[in-house]
Amino acid sequence: MRIVPISEDECRELLQRVPFGRLGCALNDQPYVVPIDFAYEPEHLFVFSTAGKKVEWMRQNPKVCVQVDEIGNWSNWTSVIVTGTFLELREPQYTGQREHAREQLAQSSKWWRIPLAERREPIEDLAIEPVFFRIDITGMSGIRSIPEAE
Ligand SMILES: Cc1cc2nc3c(=O)[nH]c(=O)nc-3n(C[C@H](O)[C@H](O)[C@H](O)COP(=O)(O)OP(=O)(O)OC[C@H]3O[C@@H](n4cnc5c(N)ncnc54)[C@H](O)[C@@H]3O)c2cc1C
Repeated sequence: MRIVPISEDECRELLQRVPFGRLGCALNDQPYVVPIDFAYEPEHLFVFSTAGKKVEWMRQNPKVCVQVDEIGNWSNWTSVIVTGTFLELREPQYTGQREHAREQLAQSSKWWRIPLAERREPIEDLAIEPVFFRIDITGMSGIRSIPEAE
């Protein structure tokens, strides 16, 4: 098996195809990684979340990364890492972007569809704060494996 870099176009195709990854953020030299769903657009990833540790951390340190992969088997896989900046889509400043994120995520995010998420937003239950955020992409890289026979 060989491991080779892929082009930026190939990275973007993977982000389009696989709307799920692992978000990495950090605070006070401590990394934190969680699985998330996202909706991809050329310069952004949109995410729906409830308030909690990752959002608190990103509010303090907006530098993040997201790793996305497609794994056929141990010798057939592709992996992309995006670096970017967290931007919380608060109302009323980002009402338009929030609605846009909602529409995009409705098509791709299973997380968005869980009853808790769907129920809490309309009734504005303060126990769970719905958060929409955008990751403004600042860079990306990708690699893939090539089985020896190819
Ligand atoms: C397939 C999949 C898709 C998901 N998509 C989304 C999404 O689109 N948006 C979203 O907000 N969340 C998503 N989640 C859940 C997400 O990974 C977090 O569990 C959740 O968002 C809570 O994160 P938080 O930082 O707010 O934790 P908090 O609720 O603040 O919890 C804090 C504590 O719980 C622990 N904890 C939190 N999450 C996890 C975890 N996943 N595994 C182990 N320990 C954990 C932390 O270490 C921390 O100590 C998804 C999870 C899965 C498995």
